[in-house]
Amino acid sequence: MEVREYVALRKEEIRASVRGLTKKPRLIIIQLNDDPASNAYVRGKLKDGAELELDVRLDKLPESTSEEELLLKVKEYNEDPEVDGLIVQLPLPKHIDEAKVKLAVNPSKDVDGFHPLTSFVPCTPKGIVEYLEHEGFQFQGKNAVVVGRSNIVGKPMAKLLLSRNCNVTQLHSKTSEEDKAFYLAHADLIVCATGRLYLLDHHYSYKPDAYIVDVGMNRGEDGKLHGDVEPNLPVKLQTPVPGGVGLLTRLALMENLIEAAK
Ligand code: NDP
Repeated sequence: MEVREYVALRKEEIRASVRGLTKKPRLIIIQLNDDPASNAYVRGKLKDGAELELDVRLDKLPESTSEEELLLKVKEYNEDPEVDGLIVQLPLPKHIDEAKVKLAVNPSKDVDGFHPLTSFVPCTPKGIVEYLEHEGFQFQGKNAVVVGRSNIVGKPMAKLLLSRNCNVTQLHSKTSEEDKAFYLAHADLIVCATGRLYLLDHHYSYKPDAYIVDVGMNRGEDGKLHGDVEPNLPVKLQTPVPGGVGLLTRLALMENLIEAAK
């Protein structure tokens, strides 16, 4: 099933489960930047919230807000029993220590899953694994290759696949071309999260029954969004960009919020 179709289906289920709750789950998004990509992500979250009848609110603060003021805001929301989920939209202005802010969010409200003690699975890996599960991918004993090792995507993705008993190999910018070609050719599942336009293309070999998940979002010279993977590779399943992992990530966030509210 196409990602868009799957997401629409899951949204129906979420809507039904929200109707059964006595109070609408509330998510606060604190945003300090005004960059176009962040604005687009925030708009998406607000739209999902409205569509799913969730109480998603944006608290947009000036970029000049000090670290101390931001931490006070976070504390306020941490202590507010009406608030179920709290997100501080990244990136933060340079004068604010991102790590410090991530640690300040109450782990039981950390629906992004960034705190080391969080109760939640980070949204991008969670959304991907749930979709693959729905598509009938059998994780146990499969060769999974994760390209990229960021704290937000690559590392939690590898950890989650390992917990599903995949044989996980993690590639990065220091992996040799020869090794990359070898691991890709033997992969049953490839998750690519590098931010490098068409890093994986038809010059590599892939198993015909491989699943490829494209996390990358790169603005092409045509001004449009493109993935890390060249479209239409000869494999069993390849997620598109746009209309792929971005939607799965947003879905997982709403699921984490409902879990937080429960
Ligand atoms: P980072 O820049 O934090 O990490 C990129 C990773 O890719 C690094 O680990 C880097 O390796 C690796 N890398 C870079 N070049 C190569 C190469 N030539 N071969 C192999 N590995 C390479 O990015 P993120 O993980 O935050 O994001 C990755 C992409 O995913 C971006 O395009 C981002 O926009 C997108 N994204 C999409 C989301 C969605 O919801 N759809 C959510 C989050 C991210 P090294 O560690 O050695 O430097």
